[in-house]
Amino acid sequence: MPTISPTHICRSFAETLAELLWPTHCIGCDYPDELLCERCRAHLPWIAQRWACPDCGAPFGWLTCTECSHEWEQRATICAWAFEDTAARTVTSYKDHHELRLAPVIAAALATALDEASSWPARDGCPRYDPADLDALVFVPATTEAYVRRGYDHMELIGRKLAHETGLPLADILVRPRARDQRDLSREERAANLKGSIYALEDLSDLRILLIDDVITTGASMREATRALSARGAAKVTACALCRVW
Ligand SMILES: [Zn+2]
Ligand SMILES: [Zn+2]
Repeated sequence: MPTISPTHICRSFAETLAELLWPTHCIGCDYPDELLCERCRAHLPWIAQRWACPDCGAPFGWLTCTECSHEWEQRATICAWAFEDTAARTVTSYKDHHELRLAPVIAAALATALDEASSWPARDGCPRYDPADLDALVFVPATTEAYVRRGYDHMELIGRKLAHETGLPLADILVRPRARDQRDLSREERAANLKGSIYALEDLSDLRILLIDDVITTGASMREATRALSARGAAKVTACALCRVW
């Protein structure tokens, strides 16, 4: 007969209490008892990797991208969803409303997009995602201020889940002590705000990195993180984000 530990009982009680106080509703449509209902799951704005820009991850940018000049620091960028409707609410619920149960959902979306991207080439002719051509998984870190406000690094939780899914070791090596929150800044202000704001704590000579973030808007955070990895010797960086604003 399986034994039930006091910790397990406490956790079950806490979960039951939380459900009574804050009942689960679908983040897309408010349908009760489900975090993401079947109907909303069926209508997520998946980006077809076949037509996506291999450099910035924007939908439909494969031949001519309206979102970038194809001059990005990372060798390829893969985004799972367009930033709209339920996808946007997923990010808000996770980051700003502490809905941490979405971490495995987001990690699974990243894994799905990566899997699809493995069938399509980057500008270098190699697959956009090839797990055999990667050594470590790195996440774009939250600013110190956001970390203190939330009490956790939102991308670290997702990184742990994705590391488990991909088999890549998670390397918590980027730090970002200074940058302001990017959300209210213009494209130029974002780039200036981030310049030199992210750096790597360890030598990364010849390592091939999969770099993840939640949302790519102008790409300033991802590019700055890529520069930080390259500055410490990373051989190449493949970027992956949950959402692409375009
Ligand atoms: Zn729903
Ligand atoms: Zn592009």
